[in-house]
Amino acid sequence: MTKLNLIAGEWLAGESEIENHNPSDLSDLVGTFAQASTDQLDATLDQARAAQVEWAAYLPERKQAVLNAIGTELMARAEELGTLLSREEGKPLAEGKGEVYRAGQFFTYYAAECLRQIGENADSVRPGVEIDVRREPVGVVAIISPWNFPTATASWKIAPALCYGNAVVWKPANITPASAVALTEIIERQDIPMGLFSLVMGSGRSIGQRLVESPKVNAISFTGSVPVGKGIAAAAIQNLTKVQMEMGSKNALVVMDDADLDLAVTLALGGAFGGTGQKCTASSRLVVHARVHDAFVDKLVAGAQAMKVGHALESGTQMGPVVSEQQLQENLSYVELGKSEGAELACGGARLQMPHDGFYMSPGVFLNTRNEMRINREEMFAPLTSVIKVESYDEALNVVNDTNFGLTSGIVTQSLARATHFRRNARTGVVTVNLPTAGTDYHVPFGGRGDSSYGPREQGKAAAEFYTTVKTAYISAGTPV
Ligand code: NDP
Repeated sequence: MTKLNLIAGEWLAGESEIENHNPSDLSDLVGTFAQASTDQLDATLDQARAAQVEWAAYLPERKQAVLNAIGTELMARAEELGTLLSREEGKPLAEGKGEVYRAGQFFTYYAAECLRQIGENADSVRPGVEIDVRREPVGVVAIISPWNFPTATASWKIAPALCYGNAVVWKPANITPASAVALTEIIERQDIPMGLFSLVMGSGRSIGQRLVESPKVNAISFTGSVPVGKGIAAAAIQNLTKVQMEMGSKNALVVMDDADLDLAVTLALGGAFGGTGQKCTASSRLVVHARVHDAFVDKLVAGAQAMKVGHALESGTQMGPVVSEQQLQENLSYVELGKSEGAELACGGARLQMPHDGFYMSPGVFLNTRNEMRINREEMFAPLTSVIKVESYDEALNVVNDTNFGLTSGIVTQSLARATHFRRNARTGVVTVNLPTAGTDYHVPFGGRGDSSYGPREQGKAAAEFYTTVKTAYISAGTPV
């Protein structure tokens, strides 16, 4: 049965349908999904505006209960919904379940934040006047989310949007609609005004574009590619709509000469190939000190070759398929590009034939690469990583910072002095020490610099900046006090 969109509080068929197949096994039809029409989008935006006013007037405990219920259900159903997620996205089951559980934690975290919305007050510079500063909802928020974390990324946007009193119109990635419907079904069952939350499945080019161009939207939170992000920003500025964007990156993990090499290899393999390399925080550049280069590379290549690539739902699978044929073809063209630029492909980087027909690719490691190469400058979103050999810490730091992006970076070292210097001088929004470049907590800010991010930070208390607008009230008793 076709899964429907949630339009103005009602589950409705769309103007067309798409089929969604399992990237681990193309013979497995995950489902059929309605594609919303632009008329439905307009209707749901109108209803969202009315619902938002009602929702904003809910007392904090009532909002808290809603978010808490969503989060608790996600965590309780992590096994079931994680299986669905892995089936449609292709990440190994443990990662799928972990993602759904984490999504639940975003909701329970922001449930508590519903009760922690405390303003500021000040004495005026004028006699007898007091000032009250508080945050109010921004209004109707459009959320445009990607396929690589279909539940978690959407949740770290939806949870704060609702927490701070907004209505949400969500356009998920069309490659992962089943996870979107599952989350929407949970949200729709809660004690919320009709039409407060909408699901508009459809292609980015049609329904997504219409959504970001709409003057009925007050704020847009987007995660995806840089070109689409720039297009959204250009559309948003026409209506002076607030934007928050998290886009690609080219994250570097530095391995210093004093690093614990086994730890470094574990971090590099997990960071490069977790989620099939399809993470904005993936370790796609491995910046390795010359003194440990050869020993590190031997272990890294052996580790990559030993990785079990397979069906996302089969036990023992360490890396699932790539999400789509298009993404796989782009990955393979980056392999050819790397070779043509003079990089040495030490292992992997090839399409794999498996018992199931899917988008399988072996994890690839490029050696002898230079930071100027395109494979080290463009986000590949692939199970590919490049080793860049450096002679010193200073050179390593320069390589890390020589990028248009700036989301995450990491260093593996036993020197507190170097770790401290790196933490303070790496030009990225997130920096890690003896930890992977991927994998962040939910209660602290997340975002980057350069082409990686635009607008206020996501997650933790920082999210309030985007999902609210500040009101400054001046109050006088009317007579001198
Ligand atoms: P996109 O940027 O195209 O897609 C991200 C989201 O934006 C999807 O929901 C997409 O819809 C939507 N979208 C696309 N075009 C528009 C538009 N004109 N207006 C409004 N919304 C739009 O990324 P892709 O999924 O195509 O992936 C391509 C590359 O982007 C990857 O290879 C990777 O490099 C990067 N990427 C980065 C991510 C990150 O976490 N930083 C996440 C995902 C991708 P639709 O469903 O039609 O795709």
